[in-house]
Amino acid sequence: MIAPELLRTPAQGKSSDFYTIATLGSHSALQILKGAHDEGFHTLAIANRETERLYRSFAFVDEVIGIDNYGEFMDLVPELESRKIIIVPHGSFVAYLSLDDHKKMSIPYFGNKAVLDHEASRELQRQWLTRAGLTVPRQFRTAAEIDRPVIVKLYGAQGGKGYLFVRNANDFEQRAGQLARQNYILQEYIIGVPAYIHYFYSPLTGKLEIMSMDRRYETNVDSLGRIPATAQQNMEIEPSYVVVGNSPLVLRESMLAEAYRMGEDVVRVSQEICGPKGLFGAFCIETIITSEAKFFVMEISARIVAGTNPFIDGSPYSYLNYSEPMSTGRRIAREIKNALLSNNLHAVLDDSGIV
Ligand code: ATP
Repeated sequence: MIAPELLRTPAQGKSSDFYTIATLGSHSALQILKGAHDEGFHTLAIANRETERLYRSFAFVDEVIGIDNYGEFMDLVPELESRKIIIVPHGSFVAYLSLDDHKKMSIPYFGNKAVLDHEASRELQRQWLTRAGLTVPRQFRTAAEIDRPVIVKLYGAQGGKGYLFVRNANDFEQRAGQLARQNYILQEYIIGVPAYIHYFYSPLTGKLEIMSMDRRYETNVDSLGRIPATAQQNMEIEPSYVVVGNSPLVLRESMLAEAYRMGEDVVRVSQEICGPKGLFGAFCIETIITSEAKFFVMEISARIVAGTNPFIDGSPYSYLNYSEPMSTGRRIAREIKNALLSNNLHAVLDDSGIV
């Protein structure tokens, strides 16, 4: 049994006495740190010069370390390793650190880094999703194969930046010049409603939870319906898919069982391909739902996504499970706390972390 003093107590004490949950000041850091605070952890934001004042302004952030830029994070590792710190990664964490640095970092880390390789490679990710029985959009190897509208996805693009909508093979040939010397994939364009489903899988209980859902608000594609199609004909508008925000979504209940099954299947296959621990903690399956109510899966994110941010106070789904405000950030902290209390911390940390 872990000594209660390892969690923050009302009496407070030196921060070195407590387990600290730390993350980079960006993306979903506020949610993660608020959740950690509410579960009794000391909290640390590693922020840059532009953001450190923001993070200091929140009372639940106990400590802020400012660095000139996130590239300097690796220099902090020895100091962080010497403390009782657990890193909770988020999307920007992965983006700012290289995959190699991410793996090298030996601070105790919530999640399984082995999943990163399967997530980072579009090909391995596609194999993972297909093996789990999920439907993925068709992919075309060459322009000649294109027989329907496609979306051209640049490698390494983030938040849908630089994606192109192409009507047919001819349209692609005419615009191929724009793509010279860039790596991309040609993916079937699915017409439907995007729905991003946020899950949490507990390695302690073996149970999967649907935490919340969002839809992204993307410019300019989400505003095209506001202009009559006839008027658009002469305007030569190109759709773009740049994310500007997220709004909450609740799925028709008859579709919920399928959403749950997709999450279970993805976790099950991850345990076959990424070592026994597989994918655990927070993850998101990014889907488009067609007029036949079929889920096409665009992508999986193997950690907390920014689409959980509208639910800092919990979602309708997390309320069903907890009857108290339970964000994904807080759910992560709850899992770490439960692991500490049952003397099983290693179950929720990457195996390369120091336990
Ligand atoms: P992130 O890494 O932040 O999740 P990303 O750069 O990987 O973003 P995607 O999530 O793959 O981008 O796609 C961005 C947007 O492009 C989607 O939200 C959706 O609107 C559109 N999109 C992606 N794939 C398809 C598809 N196959 N059919 C129709 N629209 C798509």
